[in-house]
Amino acid sequence: MSYPLVALGNPLLDLQVDVDTEYLKKYDLKENDAILAEPKHLPIFEEVLKKDGRVLLAGGAAQNTARAAQYILPPKSVVYFGSVGKDVYADKLIEANNKYGLRTEYQVQEDIETGKCAALINGAHRSLVTDLAAANHFKASHLDKPENWKLVENATHFYIGGFHLTVSPEAIEKLGKHAAENNKVFALNFSAPFIAQFFKDPLDSALKYVDFVIANESEAEAYAESHDLKVDSKDVLSIAKEVAKLPKANTKRPRTVVFTQGTEPTIVVKYDPVSEDFEVNAYKVKELTSSQIVDTNGAGDAFAGGFIASLVEGKTVAQAVDVGQWAAALSIQQVGPSFPFPKETY
Ligand code: ADP
Ligand code: MG
Ligand code: MG
Repeated sequence: MSYPLVALGNPLLDLQVDVDTEYLKKYDLKENDAILAEPKHLPIFEEVLKKDGRVLLAGGAAQNTARAAQYILPPKSVVYFGSVGKDVYADKLIEANNKYGLRTEYQVQEDIETGKCAALINGAHRSLVTDLAAANHFKASHLDKPENWKLVENATHFYIGGFHLTVSPEAIEKLGKHAAENNKVFALNFSAPFIAQFFKDPLDSALKYVDFVIANESEAEAYAESHDLKVDSKDVLSIAKEVAKLPKANTKRPRTVVFTQGTEPTIVVKYDPVSEDFEVNAYKVKELTSSQIVDTNGAGDAFAGGFIASLVEGKTVAQAVDVGQWAAALSIQQVGPSFPFPKETY
């Protein structure tokens, strides 16, 4: 069947550039983070565009994941929803998605620019500052269009970028409900620490639909702190257990929580709400040498792409983690959240 995987997120053009710690300090940025731009950050976009060596790349976390999944899966496997403007930036995103064979069903805003993400690279770290612009205007009604809802009905797997919780919790709810009622697979990435901190309510209400949670260690920590979990906020395993046993709308599927932690092992906790059993696993990462690392922008997105593509292929969670780690390593060896062509295979 065509397009088993539907992804939803905020389509952004990445303005990627190398910066020093001074530059991060000037704008109060952490070396590894992802935030929404405040007014004080807006000059960054002009400055980055003028910097030597800056590159413009297709970005947007869930869009990166969707491209990664389509890179792995057979043609016509992945469709991506989000909102863009009517401009050359959107053309660039469509061009990149077409190269991967990713089907794009954008909602187009007539008078608002396509969103941008300044990807500030500092060695192996990346600090992302986003101006959502058109991406902020996605409406759940876009999914109701008969041709789009047909794609939703045909899909068997859904992947939601947690960043979209700041835009349209209604759209996430709509897809989550559909997935739960039809026993389809629903995956959500926490995306950034600020989602758990400042968008706690939409995150909490989306979680009941989620079969697969994917997040990194700093997002796990932010979740623990913002939810007052009675566990050490650095103890990813205990946090994963807490998230895994949260209430679930579809009790026919267990919840699996996948926490990546850079070069540290990927932690996977599965909780079966019927038997109340936990299954815990940790998967080592094959660390790349520093000369192999081009940049880590999009490592987690690539991991998620490999992971969800493998679920679509019916692989086990253990295999899906391995494909995720493979995809992440490939992306880390490319500039930005990209993959090598001609295609490499797992
Ligand atoms: P995020 O990009 O969301 O911060 P992580 O930093 O946890 O996500 O990275 C996701 C995955 O990318 C890791 O689980 C690992 O497989 C891979 N990865 C990250 N850094 C490296 C590295 N230096 N060498 C090899 N693999 C890496
Ligand atoms: Mg990381
Ligand atoms: Mg990530």
